[in-house]
Amino acid sequence: MSIEKIKTLIIGSGPAGYTAAIYASRADLKPVLYTGMEPGGQLTTTTEVDNFPGYPEGVEGPTMMVELQKQAERFGTDVRIGMVSEVKLNNKIGGKHIVKIDNDKAIEAETIIISTGASAKYLGLPSEERLKGGGVSACAVCDGFFYKGQDVAIVGGGDTAAEEATYLSNICSRVTMIVRKGEMRASKAMQHRVHARDNIVLKYFSEIEEVLGETVVEGVRIINNKTLEKEVIKVSGLFIAIGHKPNTEIFKGQLDMDDAGYIITKGKTTHTNYPGVFASGDVQDKEYRQAVTAAGTGCMAALDAERYLASLT
Ligand code: NDP
Repeated sequence: MSIEKIKTLIIGSGPAGYTAAIYASRADLKPVLYTGMEPGGQLTTTTEVDNFPGYPEGVEGPTMMVELQKQAERFGTDVRIGMVSEVKLNNKIGGKHIVKIDNDKAIEAETIIISTGASAKYLGLPSEERLKGGGVSACAVCDGFFYKGQDVAIVGGGDTAAEEATYLSNICSRVTMIVRKGEMRASKAMQHRVHARDNIVLKYFSEIEEVLGETVVEGVRIINNKTLEKEVIKVSGLFIAIGHKPNTEIFKGQLDMDDAGYIITKGKTTHTNYPGVFASGDVQDKEYRQAVTAAGTGCMAALDAERYLASLT
């Protein structure tokens, strides 16, 4: 099998990957970007993006990703559809990293920028799947505004759910928080914030049986897992906040990760524990997870890669 030799490989096509591509191509690193299974990343599953600076009227998530791709291509990024299936990282300074694409093609890269993102976890109900984009969302900060003055529900009892419930309570009339245990996992401080809101209704020991509505969410049917009592709650939006899973499987055993599988970067940089390998975006950030912060770290990764390559000469 012949090996293609390149300076910079970018894995992932969300805001982090494309921003890294814009900077890396302008720095003449001639980056090759592999899109992964979901070209454009998580933003392609949301509707309007209203909080990315520079779009005063907002922008559709998929449109924004096409624009980011065009911008990266304008400076010469080679954008390819494909999945990285195997990685063999080199722990020597200046060492080359070998990456397999779709179990077939091999690439030898001097630097790698990992921007494979994280995927929101969903409940796995068919009704939930059907209504994704029709009122089921995994991002309150992205989509909460569309339910201004309306009743919504949120599933989960962690810090994300507590934070998003509080956020939604500022916008929506009523927020029903559906927690499967008898207590929240969220920190006490977060729980206090939730309890301080009159318009957040907590449903403990509760799970969603079905999301109601044909094309848009009209309600949820929940079941109390202690009493088995069922209840229908009318809502026009349902937010799923049961955690995210970073897309880091292929790097396990090589890159340093935290317990949840997020790649650990050094200090305020995007350096990983392997020289020449950088991580940007949600794959290394479980805290902020915004398009603009992902884009920011994508820029940092390209600058780190450029400086790393310069240091070798
Ligand atoms: P967590 O894993 O902490 O919490 C997930 C929540 O979802 C838990 O309440 C869990 O229930 C529930 N859950 C999981 N699966 C299901 C399911 N199938 N059905 C119903 N409920 C389910 O994820 P988070 O996203 O909340 O937080 C991730 C990390 O990010 C944490 O370390 C958190 O502290 C951190 N974070 C910090 C913030 C801050 O400090 N400002 C803000 C946001 C996140 P159960 O408890 O029963 O398992």
